[in-house]
Amino acid sequence: MKLENSANELINFRRLLHKCPELSGKEIETAKKIVRFANTFDADKILTQLGGNGVAVIFEGKEKGKTILIRCDLDALPISEENGFEYKSVFANVSHKCGHDGHMAIVSGLFRQLSEEKLTKGKVVLLFQPAEETGEGAKLILNDSKFTELNPDYVFALHNLPGFAKHQIVIKYNEFASASKGLIIRLTGKTSHAAEPEKGITPTLAVAELIYGLLDIPKNKSLKDFSLVTIIHSKIGERAFGTTPGYAELMATVRTYKNEDMLTLTNCAEELINKAAVKHKLKFEIEWVEQFPATVNSKECVDIISASAKENNFVINKINEPFRWSEDFGYFTQKYRGAFFGIGAGENLPQLHNPDYDFPDEIIVTGVKMFYSIIKKVLA
Ligand SMILES: [Zn+2]
Ligand SMILES: [Zn+2]
Repeated sequence: MKLENSANELINFRRLLHKCPELSGKEIETAKKIVRFANTFDADKILTQLGGNGVAVIFEGKEKGKTILIRCDLDALPISEENGFEYKSVFANVSHKCGHDGHMAIVSGLFRQLSEEKLTKGKVVLLFQPAEETGEGAKLILNDSKFTELNPDYVFALHNLPGFAKHQIVIKYNEFASASKGLIIRLTGKTSHAAEPEKGITPTLAVAELIYGLLDIPKNKSLKDFSLVTIIHSKIGERAFGTTPGYAELMATVRTYKNEDMLTLTNCAEELINKAAVKHKLKFEIEWVEQFPATVNSKECVDIISASAKENNFVINKINEPFRWSEDFGYFTQKYRGAFFGIGAGENLPQLHNPDYDFPDEIIVTGVKMFYSIIKKVLA
């Protein structure tokens, strides 16, 4: 069957996934739907429960050769859908607002391609990864021995990109998406009467100094490239006019283009917190969460993506700056040779994570064609 003819099958599958979205780490029914769909084709092996709810659908050629991994993501977001179409999310406060339903449909499009045109050599691993949004899924997959035994030679993945013309292939050498992580600072002193603040130990000034200090870190001369600190939350004491606060929490998200800059930024932040705590006689705790390394593309793999786009007559958009958002595919590119690329999802499409966003069905076939060309080039 020609790929264009199977487009409807993939659109229906995408909408089926869209209707019943599941949050990170809870993608049980989504994973089952993938397995059920894969079972209607001719895969050589299907692995389930990889790093949680992960699924790998494997196709093998008769001769030994390279192993290529194509990865997509299973999870949705805790956002309530503001769309009225008939396949809208049936769950309150959960919906596919990052287009992972579309990514799954694209990678599932390879089931038919690889069943109808058998590989002569090598192996293709189609990975449906859980928990991308929290930065946990890739790590769990990479620590699962069922996965590491597959030991891919090459890894590839894509993301749909609102703001870019439909079907455009967005590529970049080196860093594609930023490193990022969340910082939680807990400062503990001692409460006192609001009339006698001098008898307590209050974290108020430390919080104020830390807000200024953290926001200033990107000016640090030893950083090599772009970095950003965003204060996202703070809480000092309770809503009680009689009390001088004795406890505070401050949260920030930090991001850098380069992994090495993330180390510098981390050290600067910890030093700052330490100093502020000592100065104001506070006990402190630092916690780093939702950590994503930068997604760093290999030149060889970007060239393969670019050749695949040319072969299919897709417009290539070579960007110069990495994206500020993060992707946990960075854990894969840290360990394996690989690359990440974007597919334009339409200039006027609502942005990712917006309540009215929906993945454009027209680019499913574009994604399947790209991955199929990449697979053929790598295994040739
Ligand atoms: Zn997302
Ligand atoms: Zn995403």
